[in-house]
Amino acid sequence: MNTAPNEIVVVHIVGSSYSGTTWLNLVLGSNPDAFSIGEMDHIAKLKRPLCVFEGDGCEVWSRFKLKSSENPFEQLARITGKRYLIVNNSRRFLKAMRPPHITVRTIGLWRDGRAILASGLRKRPYQSVAYISKSWKRTIRKKRRHLDRQPADSVKYMHYETLVSDRPRYVREICEFAGMAYDESMLEYWLQQHHFIGGGTALQAVAHQHGVKSMWYRTHENEVVEAPLADTKKESILPSREFYLKSDPKTFVDKRWMQELTDEQLSQFDRVAGRLNESLGYPPVLQRDSSVG
Ligand SMILES: [Zn+2]
Repeated sequence: MNTAPNEIVVVHIVGSSYSGTTWLNLVLGSNPDAFSIGEMDHIAKLKRPLCVFEGDGCEVWSRFKLKSSENPFEQLARITGKRYLIVNNSRRFLKAMRPPHITVRTIGLWRDGRAILASGLRKRPYQSVAYISKSWKRTIRKKRRHLDRQPADSVKYMHYETLVSDRPRYVREICEFAGMAYDESMLEYWLQQHHFIGGGTALQAVAHQHGVKSMWYRTHENEVVEAPLADTKKESILPSREFYLKSDPKTFVDKRWMQELTDEQLSQFDRVAGRLNESLGYPPVLQRDSSVG
């Protein structure tokens, strides 16, 4: 895709929680011409932007005005000097993506629903398999409806499992789709500084690299929580911190679900969401892969 050099390109990543959306956002946002925004809908819900690394004291977001007559993407392009703006699940800002000089490239990112289930159970063990599976199903249907409404040539679908099987190849493919130059250094996204809005475990590699002591989050009740990184009691906000810090973010693939889910849990998932999962390209019969931890 070719765009005029001064044109703004919004890359909109659409996918469920735990499907690699934060990771992909940070990778694309590590391109020298790009900026990782994160989940813009958080701004609308909180009525202000909240940088996960710097809170309200963020050098970038403190200059952003939600109630401005200037288009929010134009504002961010001006403040950051970057023309590729990377957002995740930002439905409330779709209207702001409409001006003719803004090009939108959408990426539908799927991941096996059983991996999402295992992540959900790890973070909220008090929730039932049926509850998590149903809520995943609802989310995917909603995402699909949105993706189906976009012009077909502006959407690229990607499976998380495919993407991480050969990062250089598929990240390059996504860059080509977005009209962005590919650079291998993007894969080491944690070396860059980011001003991300929203959550996601990939952020921990960035925090770790830059010696960040605590991170800021918005709760479902729209409260702001500052979670010190060393505080293990905040496990529900920072899931499996130890696991992620031990992993090499360059080759990290989370296949824990294949060992973690019991046969009973798998058949419960199948009853609720098996057909939907299959329609995304995931075979119902599980080959337990013992080679990868
Ligand atoms: Zn910041």
